[in-house]
Amino acid sequence: MDTSAEMNGELRSETVECKKQPGYRSLGRQRDGNFALSVGVPTACFTGEQLRGLGEVIEQYGTFGHLSTAQSVIIVGIPEEKLEAARLAVSDAGFDVRSIGKDVRQVKCCPGADYSPFGLQRTLPMAKLIEKTFRGLPTPAKFKISVSGCPNCCANTMMNEFGIHGTVDGWNVFIGGKMGPNPVVAQELAVGVESDDVPKYLAATARVFREVAETNERLAATIERLGFQTFRHMVMTALDAPHDDLAELARAARDQTAR
Ligand code: SF4
Repeated sequence: MDTSAEMNGELRSETVECKKQPGYRSLGRQRDGNFALSVGVPTACFTGEQLRGLGEVIEQYGTFGHLSTAQSVIIVGIPEEKLEAARLAVSDAGFDVRSIGKDVRQVKCCPGADYSPFGLQRTLPMAKLIEKTFRGLPTPAKFKISVSGCPNCCANTMMNEFGIHGTVDGWNVFIGGKMGPNPVVAQELAVGVESDDVPKYLAATARVFREVAETNERLAATIERLGFQTFRHMVMTALDAPHDDLAELARAARDQTAR
């Protein structure tokens, strides 16, 4: 593998051209013509057996695996003719292929109170619950979620669309953060939220975002356009609406991706 950090002029021009093409920003076809698959690793936890299984998939179909900043494993270097078999092998190994489009992404989380000596809340069950309920929900632009067990925010709570961190009193909730060329730090939506109430804060945020955002607009831009207090008021107004409809939309989208 060439690990050179230098980028020559030819590569730079190629990148500029690629960026003009639709689909460049979605994982799929690589620069060299091979394909990449994003493999979900819920809660970023796996057993030795699962890791061995994934290792075999990488060996058989790809070139190597890359740990993404979102805690997925990207298998790169898959020839087009092996892509479908690789998808099936990922599934047989107990993992699933993740969407990388405009939707609620895999939840990023730290080990939390179950394993970290600083943990104040249990991140793993919280991340699992959020994933099970909301992952895949279509949104106007990508929607990232982060769960940290304490204010140290090792899972980058404030650099995601919806981030929470544990405190002795519950969870503090932040919305509207993002990375990218113009990073934005999320703003505080609520403090001391009980675990059972976190899903309704997420549902209300996603619902308002789906309703008021312009196409391809990240939440940070929506909040900037409307003003934080206006957006926050809309979220708090929607807080007690049942979110079965959003959960159903997310489930349907996940089923579609799995096909
Ligand atoms: S955020 Fe807190 S609980 Fe999570 S890994 Fe960091 S120090 Fe531990």
